[in-house]
Amino acid sequence: MTLYPQLILDALSKVRYPGTGKDLVSQEMVDDDIRIDGNKVSFSLIFDKPNDPFIKSVVKAAETAILTYISPEVDIKGNIQVKAKQQLPQQPEKLLPDVKNIIAVSSGKGGVGKSTVAANLAVALASLGYKVGLLDADIFGPSMPKMFHVEDARPYMEEVNGKEMIAPAENYGVKLLSIGFFVNKEDAVLWRGGMASNALKQLIGEGNWGSLDYFLIDLPPGTSDIHLTLVQTLAITGAIIVTTPQEVALADARKGISMFMGEKVNVPVLGLVENMAWFTPAELPENKYYLFGKEGGKRLAEELHVPLLGQIPIVQSICEGGDTGTPVALNTDTVTGQAFHTLAENVVKQVNYRNEHLAPTKKVNITHR
Ligand code: ADP
Repeated sequence: MTLYPQLILDALSKVRYPGTGKDLVSQEMVDDDIRIDGNKVSFSLIFDKPNDPFIKSVVKAAETAILTYISPEVDIKGNIQVKAKQQLPQQPEKLLPDVKNIIAVSSGKGGVGKSTVAANLAVALASLGYKVGLLDADIFGPSMPKMFHVEDARPYMEEVNGKEMIAPAENYGVKLLSIGFFVNKEDAVLWRGGMASNALKQLIGEGNWGSLDYFLIDLPPGTSDIHLTLVQTLAITGAIIVTTPQEVALADARKGISMFMGEKVNVPVLGLVENMAWFTPAELPENKYYLFGKEGGKRLAEELHVPLLGQIPIVQSICEGGDTGTPVALNTDTVTGQAFHTLAENVVKQVNYRNEHLAPTKKVNITHR
């Protein structure tokens, strides 16, 4: 008697799997690897679940079929192994699949107007007709709910393609999620380390951001765990660094830029924004008073060969706009509104230039920290 695999398969095709009524071969339960050594035969039967209630009876029936249809001489006893179907490794879903450009807004130190610039840039981009989302990841001082006048918004869950997602708040054409929606201001400072990083990942991955041209992320000042989480979670198109012209701010901005441009992180820096570049009384816009020194941001940009994206004056209305939740960028008739629109146009130009000339950013894989 010469045994060969097809003979075994023919015998096994006489056995039905009770769960579906199909035979074991058409049910694709017989592993390809059938071993024959003289009259000894061994193979595996594959079950969907390791606790399938039919396992015992099917193995017994397979044994009997071989002995009956081939020969009682075949040595099959105890040679049928049971395998559970290999779960295909789940393809990790791409985060933010319909988002074209992800921009991190960062600063070396706090209080330089980073959040103000991020909010007004978002509003200005939206008024140019772009689809814009803004994530307030400034865990230590989430200010976006106030700046967008949505302090009372409580983002609800909505089902998207069978998945529960967080619906962002929306105002002035900008979709917004903030850590501030989930935690009291007084508690925000306690959200250190892992807790903050997890919250951030959730707002990115489970926010229903939909399709966006620009997704801005307002980062905490300095370099923190949040920065590292971000570059490991998302492929950032580019970073914008906000500074004031003061020496202390410039020194910190330099550190921020070198973090993004460093070998480990390697996120292109789209440019620098010099905020509080000069003081202008609203009624005398031609008068410029350089309170924090003249053109420090401009000089730093030249020195580091990064574009200067904009210079924003100190104007009372910028501060008031933040406090009342009406960003000045809503009004293009003013000097301040105009300054943010010029900034938005420069950002668009730099992003387009970056996308044409540089390969897409890769997510950072940091194994040792
Ligand atoms: P950061 O995010 O860097 O900590 P904020 O955006 O919260 O800074 O700004 C700090 C304060 O400075 C806020 O009260 C804001 O309204 C005010 N501010 C920011 N930029 C300007 C500006 N160009 N003119 C006037 N006030 C400004």
